Amino acid sequence: MARVCDHIRNADGKTIFSIEVIPPIKGDNLKNLLDNIEPLMEFKPPFIDVTYHREEYIERPEPDGTIRKIVTRKRPGTVGICSAIMHRFGVDPVPHVLCGGFTRDETEDFLIDLHYLGIDNVLVLRGDPAKPYHTFKPKTNGYSYASELVEQVANMNRGVYLHDSEHTLTPSRFCIGVAAYPEKHFEAADPDEDLNYLKLKIDKGADYVVTQMFFDNQKYFDFVDRCRKAGINVPIIPGLKPLSTRKQLQVLPSIFHLNMPEDLVRAVEACENDTQAREVGIEWSVQQCRELMKAGVPVLHFYTMGKSDNIRKIAEQVF
Ligand code: FAD
Repeated sequence: MARVCDHIRNADGKTIFSIEVIPPIKGDNLKNLLDNIEPLMEFKPPFIDVTYHREEYIERPEPDGTIRKIVTRKRPGTVGICSAIMHRFGVDPVPHVLCGGFTRDETEDFLIDLHYLGIDNVLVLRGDPAKPYHTFKPKTNGYSYASELVEQVANMNRGVYLHDSEHTLTPSRFCIGVAAYPEKHFEAADPDEDLNYLKLKIDKGADYVVTQMFFDNQKYFDFVDRCRKAGINVPIIPGLKPLSTRKQLQVLPSIFHLNMPEDLVRAVEACENDTQAREVGIEWSVQQCRELMKAGVPVLHFYTMGKSDNIRKIAEQVF
């Protein structure tokens, strides 16, 4: 199977279509997810990202009045889904790999599983704080920042695994993606500091960048300019999410820390229902895609969030 960077190189300047999918809620089956991907195969995504969802904590009152803290996973199954995508569609999966919830040794085991499965791509992320907490805490012997995890993967690519070994170790060949935020990561003090830490991820071995969603292309263009000036020369893939409900006007900015352009806000506020809002979202995204393609972006990467009909309508118009 091929690496994301090879797909970009082989496209020879033509913009590629790709998507990100989310594992089903625990207990659901995979059919819906695969059925959602199927109609998008017409647009030949060479790779599909699969998110990873760390543990959450639920506090349950006990009969004796005490509170029991229960660890739960809402969306397990990232590796299995990657394998299913690879075999069903012949597409390269890109599993997301998190710092949060993992020790370095657990991460190494995870990466070895991917390597054995022939999965040669990872998107390396720190992850958010485990819900309901608000600050990120690494597991003991885990990592605080994505750059540290990038270094571990890059070491494996050189045949350097954790702990010394007398054996000759097989190098992995992971293409390493990392996240970036055109409108700044919410925890960063300022955009320059955020950019310096992005540069650190590249210097440690990341091969490409995927951005957080944005609705104003100028934010992406300005961000790419700043990256190039800072010496970040790897591909910067724009992440796109078509707005699909009226509520998302408030929900997306509050979850993902981004701004909605005035024109989009006005257009969605004028909608009488979510069907109309979905159409406005499609039209907005089509305009975004056309402008981004004209600017020569390597990939248009869509966050499906469990639904693909609107993304299909967009892809029909732009690819
Ligand atoms: P980092 O690069 O580690 O940065 C986190 C913060 O720390 C930033 O503010 C940065 O400026 C700062 N920082 C970085 N290095 C240092 C340092 N050395 N010293 C001090 N400060 C530093 N979350 C999931 O749980 N699962 C997913 O599958 C997932 N997929 C995602 C896909 C994309 C494309 C994007 C954009 C985000 C995704 N996320 C996912 C969310 C992501 O985990 C969060 O945004 C998280 O808060 C930050 O992750 P990061 O890898 O950007 O962190």
